[in-house]
Amino acid sequence: MTRLLRRLLALLLVPLLAAAGHTAPAKKRIALTFDDVPRMPGAFFTPEERTRRLLAALKQNGVRQAAFFITPGNLEQPYGKGGESRIAAYVRAGHVIANHSYSHRHLSELTVQDYVTDLDRAAAWLNGRPGVRRWYRYPFLDEAGADVAKRDALRAALKARGLHNGYVTSDSNDWLMEALAVDAKRAGQPMDLNALRDLYVRTVVGAADFSDALARKTLGRSPAQVILMHETDLEAMFVADAVKALKADGWEIVTADAAFADPIALEEPNSIRTSMGQIAAMADARGVPLQRLFDRTFGERAISAAFAAQVLHQPASGR
Ligand SMILES: [Zn+2]
Repeated sequence: MTRLLRRLLALLLVPLLAAAGHTAPAKKRIALTFDDVPRMPGAFFTPEERTRRLLAALKQNGVRQAAFFITPGNLEQPYGKGGESRIAAYVRAGHVIANHSYSHRHLSELTVQDYVTDLDRAAAWLNGRPGVRRWYRYPFLDEAGADVAKRDALRAALKARGLHNGYVTSDSNDWLMEALAVDAKRAGQPMDLNALRDLYVRTVVGAADFSDALARKTLGRSPAQVILMHETDLEAMFVADAVKALKADGWEIVTADAAFADPIALEEPNSIRTSMGQIAAMADARGVPLQRLFDRTFGERAISAAFAAQVLHQPASGR
């Protein structure tokens, strides 16, 4: 190669390489959502104390607007006493509320009519309240699985009511860790709370990163994500650590409004796996094989084993 040619090539390549180097990767964005509000008590706090701690953790870590998905039927339970004022406290702090059905039933187990009556009952409770958003989150993320006609009937019913699917894109499986903690407390088994925190935090961050990688591969972009959490003691204790870890891992915490404004909100994936979340369902609809839609590391079996081995310090069962 002549010196002239080398110089010409360099002149051509340098700006190209520089431009490529300056294209910073889009920041990962995620909103926090808490379901089943007001939820049954956990192992550590009264519902009032749980709300107080959760609100303080969100405020101290710059989470301006999370979404709280309300199940008004829970207000009729003994633990729901005072729930209405706790919900109002979330809204006063800048957070928003939306519909998670009245009685928290599986779509798979009800007729379309009974199911819609139940969600209308929750809407009647919510409508006109401050902070309300027109999102509906399916209990258990159950959109009737393989019953595509039922799934589509619900999609039409939501549309007719001006409601949008309050989907999730990533799952903390916090409910499972919370349930295991409640069981351990009842059985009088000592828990290593540092290990519980670590398990919770690495599940939150790992599940979000897995979903982001799946989206980049499948959609060619990094959509704003929505993580599924619940109003539990686990969140009251550890959501601050999870937020810090997410930020350290390159995530920006965005508002629920911003996350549900992402273009993925417009998609209704033709998938029978919507319970795996919006991104996985979109990937499924695009033909991505099932085993690539999830990571066992953040699944229920792995969490149960890790809880036994690390939080209870018991050898993991051989299942
Ligand atoms: Zn729920």
